[in-house]
Amino acid sequence: MSDFIYLDNNATTRVDPAVVEEMMPFLTEQYGNPSSAYRFGKQVAAALDLARERVAALLGCEPGEIVFTSCGTESTNAAIHSALLMDRDRQHIITTRVEHSATLKTCELLAKRGYEITWLGVDSQGQVDLRELEKSIRSDTALVSVMWANNETGVLFPTEEIADIVRGKGALFHTDAVQAVGKIPIALADAKINFLSLSGHKLHCPKGVGVLYVNRRTKFAPFMTGGGQEKSKRAGTENVASIVALGKACEVAGQFIEHENSEVRAWRDQFEEGILERVQGAQINGDRAHRLPNTSNLAFDGIDSEAVLMLLDDAGVCCSSGSACTTGSVHASHVLKAMGFSDDRARSSLRFSFGRFNTAAEVPRAIDAVERVVGKLRRVAAAA
Ligand SMILES: *Cc1c(COP(=O)(O)O)cnc(C)c1O
Repeated sequence: MSDFIYLDNNATTRVDPAVVEEMMPFLTEQYGNPSSAYRFGKQVAAALDLARERVAALLGCEPGEIVFTSCGTESTNAAIHSALLMDRDRQHIITTRVEHSATLKTCELLAKRGYEITWLGVDSQGQVDLRELEKSIRSDTALVSVMWANNETGVLFPTEEIADIVRGKGALFHTDAVQAVGKIPIALADAKINFLSLSGHKLHCPKGVGVLYVNRRTKFAPFMTGGGQEKSKRAGTENVASIVALGKACEVAGQFIEHENSEVRAWRDQFEEGILERVQGAQINGDRAHRLPNTSNLAFDGIDSEAVLMLLDDAGVCCSSGSACTTGSVHASHVLKAMGFSDDRARSSLRFSFGRFNTAAEVPRAIDAVERVVGKLRRVAAAA
């Protein structure tokens, strides 16, 4: 374990042992159904209540506004579905070209089914133009969906400001906050956000649990129908152990937000400075002034990111290329392409994402590994 450096915390995170401990009883003795009328079930319902309070505390909202789902992707689907279903006169959606596939693919599918989608572009920093966003909102716009933080570059959008604009124009606003929650402070009570999606496994909780925040004044039509769980906002017997885990993960995340923005940010910054100093032709992708504290997306001029990825894997460093590999063909990252970068620059870029389970000692080792691997690939290319 100690030889391997995990720098892919935006893909998923290590489960916090405190989270495992909290969920364990609900995988063993406490197997009651929270909807049951006897005490053995009611104890479990109380555990769900506590989890709901803990998530609400991290988001600065009310527990009644938290709906547990199976993942971030489901939450996003549910928000989009509800917005379209609640007002049949509004069948237009606005989103950006740099969203996660949860939003991107869903909107592409809706476009095929006859809904109208406006795709907002971004500038070279990865930012949307707020005036363009405002102008694109129409009287038949059901929903504007803009992520809070980009998973590839870490670029932060001015989410509260966007929410104000959307509310002013009378449409609903959803934000995919999967990468933002736990990394930056969030206070939903003061924001004009209707829906927010988050995912457990990006904040040191197991995979397969998420949350959709639904503002208490926002009308909602469920995506999953059936039983009356989650106040009829999401049918299906609750994933109790994972929900309990998510509650604990949110509590711990609240305690570590300071740490994310001091220690973790310092590791990321040290890593970037080291790379920029020692690796020629390395460049940072994305708005440095408005970025998550843990994410570094770097381009290595003339280098194939897939080759770097594999050699870094051999060297014990896990990171990610933004490119999606579908059946052998590698597509350049849609995020970097939307920022106006060439296929070459997009294909030479890698994402390194830190987390609180990294250590200060790993930073220089990771810099060394990247320097060695890029150097080796450049020598091979020069010799060819
Ligand atoms: C990981 C991720 C998702 C998907 O969350 P799942 O729980 O894996 O479905 C959605 N949006 C962003 C920005 C992500 O990083």
